[in-house]
Amino acid sequence: MTRLHVFLTIFVLSLVGACASAPAPTPPQAMPAPSPGAHDPNQDLGLLWVKHAAEYGAITKQAYRSAEAALPGYIADTSWSAMPGQKDAKNLPPAVILDVDETVVSNVDFQLAFERPFTNRKLYDFYHEHAAIPVPGVVEFVAAARKAGVDVFFVTNRPCELIDDDPDPCPQKRGVIEEIESIGISTDDAHVMLADENDWDRAKIRRREYIAGTHRVIMLFGDDLGDFVPCVRTKLYGPCTEPATKASRARLVDEYINYWGNGWYILPGPMHGSWTSFR
Ligand SMILES: [Mg+2]
Repeated sequence: MTRLHVFLTIFVLSLVGACASAPAPTPPQAMPAPSPGAHDPNQDLGLLWVKHAAEYGAITKQAYRSAEAALPGYIADTSWSAMPGQKDAKNLPPAVILDVDETVVSNVDFQLAFERPFTNRKLYDFYHEHAAIPVPGVVEFVAAARKAGVDVFFVTNRPCELIDDDPDPCPQKRGVIEEIESIGISTDDAHVMLADENDWDRAKIRRREYIAGTHRVIMLFGDDLGDFVPCVRTKLYGPCTEPATKASRARLVDEYINYWGNGWYILPGPMHGSWTSFR
């Protein structure tokens, strides 16, 4: 056998061996990087939890029922205020302040349906075609509060924006009132406050202070830390001089520890909110 024959024999045998062996396993495919702004709401556990979990309604009812049970005590104790720093309010009528989105109405169907990215106009348009969903427990609580003589205010950060040829400078306010009334809570212009009215801002503290000028604020309700204290965002609003951080937000929770469940009632907000800037 010549050298050439030996070489060819080895070469052919190596080919046969290669063909007979098991195919090499396919290496795992790396997950494709999400494109900027891509978001599949049907994979978002926060949205799915609000939509499907019985636990969501259990938590919101827990908050509102706890608050309802506490109403008589806060009404009777005229030295009590849920507004840190409010003093000399014993002769003022009692009031509660509620945020709107995820506190009074649930936007879960909008969150599952809208085409990203979010715009206020998309939310506005959605509610012209879809019924508002009450946050479980809120209708019963507001009825109990009013029956006990407590005034109810709604403070929302939905902005005022011109809509097409609508002459109303703030059609969103009308929309919010209609949504609240559609779930069985009557209200009016004076009890609904948007950020862009009267030189208020998105910090909400100035609106709470405005209400505290005429009422003893006995309870606050919201799904965002900003519904209770200012300076929870990276943007500077109201009295804030430094951008909030994850650590500063956590410190605020501890600083006001005695209010949680005691005049302050926070509801789940996993779908959106100021917290999303601190991941
Ligand atoms: Mg909210």
